[in-house]
Amino acid sequence: MNIETKLTSFLGKEIKDATKKELYDALRNYVYEQIQDRPLTVGEKKLYYISAEFLTGKQLGKNLINLGIYEEVNTLLDKNNISLSEVEALEPEPSLGNGGLGRLAACFLDSIATLDMNGDGIGLLYHFGLFKQEFQNNKQFETPDAWLKDNAAIHKTNISFPVSLAGETYQSVMYDFDVIGYKKGHTKLHLFDLESVDESIVKDGIRFDKKDIKKNLTLFLYPDDSDKDGQLLRIYQQYFMVSNAAQLILQEQKQLGHSLRDLDKYVAIQINDTHPSMIIPELIRLLMLEGMTMKEAADIITNTCGYTNHTILSEALEKWPLEYLNEVVPQLIPIINGLDFATVCAYHNNPHLSIIDKEHRVHMASLDIHYSHSTNGVANLHTEILKNQELRSFFKNYPYRFNNKTNGISFRRWLMHSNPELSSYIDELIGETWKENPYELERLFYFYNDEGVLNRLEQIKYNNKVRFANYIKEKEGIEIDPNSIICAQIKRMHEYKRQQMNALWIIYEYLKIKQGILPPRPITIIFGGKAAPAYIMAKNIIHLILTLEELIEKDPEVNKWLKVVMIKNYNVEVAEKLIPACDISEQISLASKEASGTGNMKFMLNGAVTLGTLDGANVEIRDLVGQDNIYIFGRNSQEVINLYNTNGYHSIDFYNGSESIHRSVDFITSEELSKHGDYTLLKELQDNLKNKDWFMTLLDLESYCGVKEVAIYDYENREKWKRMMLSNIARAGFFSSDRTIYEYNNDIWHLK
Ligand SMILES: *Cc1c(COP(=O)(O)O)cnc(C)c1O
Repeated sequence: MNIETKLTSFLGKEIKDATKKELYDALRNYVYEQIQDRPLTVGEKKLYYISAEFLTGKQLGKNLINLGIYEEVNTLLDKNNISLSEVEALEPEPSLGNGGLGRLAACFLDSIATLDMNGDGIGLLYHFGLFKQEFQNNKQFETPDAWLKDNAAIHKTNISFPVSLAGETYQSVMYDFDVIGYKKGHTKLHLFDLESVDESIVKDGIRFDKKDIKKNLTLFLYPDDSDKDGQLLRIYQQYFMVSNAAQLILQEQKQLGHSLRDLDKYVAIQINDTHPSMIIPELIRLLMLEGMTMKEAADIITNTCGYTNHTILSEALEKWPLEYLNEVVPQLIPIINGLDFATVCAYHNNPHLSIIDKEHRVHMASLDIHYSHSTNGVANLHTEILKNQELRSFFKNYPYRFNNKTNGISFRRWLMHSNPELSSYIDELIGETWKENPYELERLFYFYNDEGVLNRLEQIKYNNKVRFANYIKEKEGIEIDPNSIICAQIKRMHEYKRQQMNALWIIYEYLKIKQGILPPRPITIIFGGKAAPAYIMAKNIIHLILTLEELIEKDPEVNKWLKVVMIKNYNVEVAEKLIPACDISEQISLASKEASGTGNMKFMLNGAVTLGTLDGANVEIRDLVGQDNIYIFGRNSQEVINLYNTNGYHSIDFYNGSESIHRSVDFITSEELSKHGDYTLLKELQDNLKNKDWFMTLLDLESYCGVKEVAIYDYENREKWKRMMLSNIARAGFFSSDRTIYEYNNDIWHLK
């Protein structure tokens, strides 16, 4: 039956007479049927990718692409004067992730399916996800994100396991989310939940009783852990996730008739960051219940598990007090103590290698490294820093366990779906083989001197700016000039990512315009990102940005030349709309702090030029495109690490030592700006910049302003800029997550 007939029968009426919502439901049903017709990928060995986050984005459009019917459906709806993208917009975006790490997990599932690998994801079903971000009085407020209501991408199964939490048994429910690959492959994301969770206990924003585990367990991703109850709740969540995962894995293996002594032969488990680390002691515990000794079980689990490290920020490396673990998961304590004792004996009490430290805290990453056969970083620089600095003692002990897997992104979502015009133009130029072999994008270099092609790239960028301007006008009533240069910094709000440095550039530029020094054309600076609800400084940075936005908007002298936009509730949908419209990709983290970044790759693939530090995967972008096709500024990672090691950075010296830094920082509490904001918050931020500035904003500020100016003037050299765009797109093939997953499989999982 063809699609039109099928849709008409779902609708019970003609397509042209259906509402968008009816069409959305019909298409969703149609896609679901098509997915069920595709056999699940099988194989001798199976991967389980365990992650607290999967930031999947909306499913309908991506599934239509992967089924190979997007164009057909688009044309069909077009004929009936209906826009497919407006229908897609009706799907609530799953709020199962926080940022890059969760988005990576989603791209990985897409690639695992596309490469037809036998691998499932395992995580939790958070009813309200992270939170929804709103702005009031130029400040962030959090509300529950009720994305589950009306979302039919998720299907309840009859699989359920008992999980013991603080001595009480809770019965889980497993929900499944289908993941289909491009043209082939079909796997699952399994999300565990608890029936007794009660959404009505959330009051007054996102507050709820943190002690009521039965009702709160899976309400939110990353509930506030600034107090003990919050930390206990995180442990409850983590154990609930891994206990279900462990039981599912062992059940599937038993059903296949495999001996659990051969687990490492049939199963690979990838631990995405430290949140799922308790799967190690949990599996060892379960294998011991099957009659193995701790040593036997630990050896098997070590050979089964791999661990991915995502950060070197020590505050982000989880360390749970043994006492808290004892409260929530007493059944794991003998195992954790046993594993710790074994390492203490083996490594002569070396404190750098211990699992439990002197303060009786359990270092989850240490547990992972000792009891897995692979530890990987997520970009070359990050892995080198792990080996030579942060995890040096571990690296000396297990040099062969450390490896790098530079992150990647799914080109289905981040080019084919998000930028259809560029994607089909590439097809026209070099054919479609790049979709299976992304390195083929290099063939675009044939057109490096082809004026027609270069102009068309420029035109597509302009069209995407118009598309984005319309979207943001409709959604938030904000006007954006498609003839302006669009610079974007969209990512979680964090001091190490240095949105505050961009804000200081805005002040610097504002003051220049006030003096009559105008840029060559209007500039639009776009921010998007959520701050963790308890992270005061990140919230103060949002406040500064929103306050600047208002000040500039109301100043007719400046608003012709400079526009600041902080988009609320940044998520995958916003990213997909904005990235194709962007000219300058701001990747300005303090060198050594951003493990990889994946936003940087999305921008590059869509023809934006990076303005960044030599951090994370920016280094690899620079190596691929060459110095001439990227704007690099600031201190490098070794210089930064040396400053930390010698306590050599004092922000006040930079404040006192430069007239322009001084003026920009002072402006934060000026009368003009305070009129639009909250003086106390602005003062707190300013004091921090002058007296602490842990992530060294002022260190790189002058270099940043200088290089940003060069980029803004280079933009006027259109011939040069268009070639830079082409070079960035053509060299982006390396960043396909298909390449990343291929490497994980070759080096770590060995599925086939
Ligand atoms: C890609 C992506 C991120 C990660 O961005 P970085 O710049 O790498 O931190 C975060 N959130 C969303 C919605 C994304 O799509």
